[in-house]
Amino acid sequence: MREEAIVYEVYATKYAERDARRTEHFLGGDPHDGPMPMDYFVWAIVGDARTWVVDTGFGEPDASVRGRRLVRSVTDALASIGVDAATVTDVIVTHLHYDHIGGHAQFPSARFHVQDREVAFATGRHMTHRAINHAFTPAHIAELVLLVHAGRVVFHDGDDDLAPGLSLHHLGGHTDGLQIVRVRTAAGWLVLASDATHYYENIESGRPFPVVFDVGAVLAGFATIRRLADGPALIVPGHDPLVLERFEPAGAGLDGMAVRVDRPRRA
Ligand SMILES: [Zn+2]
Repeated sequence: MREEAIVYEVYATKYAERDARRTEHFLGGDPHDGPMPMDYFVWAIVGDARTWVVDTGFGEPDASVRGRRLVRSVTDALASIGVDAATVTDVIVTHLHYDHIGGHAQFPSARFHVQDREVAFATGRHMTHRAINHAFTPAHIAELVLLVHAGRVVFHDGDDDLAPGLSLHHLGGHTDGLQIVRVRTAAGWLVLASDATHYYENIESGRPFPVVFDVGAVLAGFATIRRLADGPALIVPGHDPLVLERFEPAGAGLDGMAVRVDRPRRA
């Protein structure tokens, strides 16, 4: 007898944005400069029994210090797709950059799933270098240590299964402990790549984003992402405004704000 495979609904919901240019998004720059804005998302994986949130976003302090436009809070971004941040029990943190861990306080009931290597990276010798530490907000890392001692951090060492049809995969590259998420959906295996590819164009053209710890691992990661996803339409980059165009809106009135990434739009 064949068991019915468990599938999840998966959402990307936008909470912030910034203006940027093409040259900022490719290692070595780009010969064709022009505007290339950046969006900031969190993701939700909704199963029958449990909802998983992927990343926590950031709040007003980081927005003002770093010149980002917060269009709504992460809590509101999740509420728009029917997810109550206050009751979420499990948050997967892809890596510890400010825009991925900075909103952890909006999840008072959650455990945070991170890679061993990311916590070692964010608290270790490489953080003495401005070139590497600039995308981390040290207060978030200190707060994470408090969460470790409160029993609210779940450590993963490499690839791990979280539930049937849901797994973590360590890639490194952008940061040493970056992990991505693979989810089974009705459309096939989907990969939430987070900052393993900021834009579609990074993976499609084989050009890493310039905020990078290990270029070789970024490039190897592109191949891993392709292997884990059932086709390019089911790869979700971390910061690309095109995500909001390539998938179906998550509901009425959510155009340009939240999409069902398990529902690619027909070309
Ligand atoms: Zn990011």
